Amino acid sequence: MDYRSDTFTKPTQAMLEAMLQAETGDDVFGEDPSVNKLEAIMSALFGMEAALYCPSGTMSNQIAIKVHTQPGDEVICSSLAHVYIYEGGGIAFNAGAQVRPLEGDRGMITAAAVEAAINPDDVHKARTSLVCLENTANRGGGCCYDFEEILKIREVCNSHQLKLHLDGARLFNALLATEQTARQFGEVFDSISVCLNKGLGCPMGSILLGSKAFIREARRVRKKLGGGLRQAGYMAATGLYALEHHVDRLAEDHAHAKRIAHVLLEREFTGHMLPVETNILIFEVLAPWSPVTFRDYLAKEGIAVMAISPTQVRMVTHLGITPAMVDKTVEVIRTMS
Ligand SMILES: *Cc1c(COP(=O)(O)O)cnc(C)c1O
Repeated sequence: MDYRSDTFTKPTQAMLEAMLQAETGDDVFGEDPSVNKLEAIMSALFGMEAALYCPSGTMSNQIAIKVHTQPGDEVICSSLAHVYIYEGGGIAFNAGAQVRPLEGDRGMITAAAVEAAINPDDVHKARTSLVCLENTANRGGGCCYDFEEILKIREVCNSHQLKLHLDGARLFNALLATEQTARQFGEVFDSISVCLNKGLGCPMGSILLGSKAFIREARRVRKKLGGGLRQAGYMAATGLYALEHHVDRLAEDHAHAKRIAHVLLEREFTGHMLPVETNILIFEVLAPWSPVTFRDYLAKEGIAVMAISPTQVRMVTHLGITPAMVDKTVEVIRTMS
């Protein structure tokens, strides 16, 4: 029962079958039919001109940031953003840009804060050129942006000629939880990255979306980073399978997360918990437990969770967590003293 992350999902038998049946070609030559189909389906779904299949979400984010900026530029994002804290300093390494991290609410930032952080046209200052949002926000406990705020941020970007990128690693979770559509997001952002390797259950892969001109440039950067794959269709086939079979079921993960949250909140050792909007639970563990002793106790019961800070534990539900596993988990939590 691995609740450490939704990256621990493994391909189902049916997904493996889909891989075996995949039509493939050389994707660096643009000749892999499964990759081309996956890119076409995703760009149509989001109403965006073009898409690019990438090996990972980190790579698709980094490609987007590289294409949208020049060395020495400044990128505005939350201080909790994956692009800032979990991509190995990639913004500096790949794009030569620097970050203006903003304190926000659970990894979400506001239009007012973005506007206040834009540098004036002054030689002392880095040129602000890009804003990155994350939805759902991972370190914010899988929370979802208020779409009205995103529209306001878009307006600020328009009036200052800034590009707007979305790290939508778990965007399908957000769409489901808020009953929004992919097209709404496609209309607002210059580029969107969506992970296939999280709750959608693919072994790898991410999709980058944008205009034709943007994706042409992105394809060039992907090649430079060594991310141009040959018979990538075997992997793209897992994405095609997941889009058909693993999107609606994310609602089950959300229900599982809420059920576990409900039982945790009945226990005295549970401190502050971030609102559970999708498939991520982040909560404080109080004395006599600590995040580490709590994690180690559950590990002995066959339940893996992550101690993510000196005070907090994270649990993530996904396709590898069945209703029976949730039953067992809540039973163990109920009997902890
Ligand atoms: C997982 C994740 C990514 C990308 O991760 P990869 O493992 O490189 O695919 C990007 N952003 C967020 C918010 C994530 O959770």
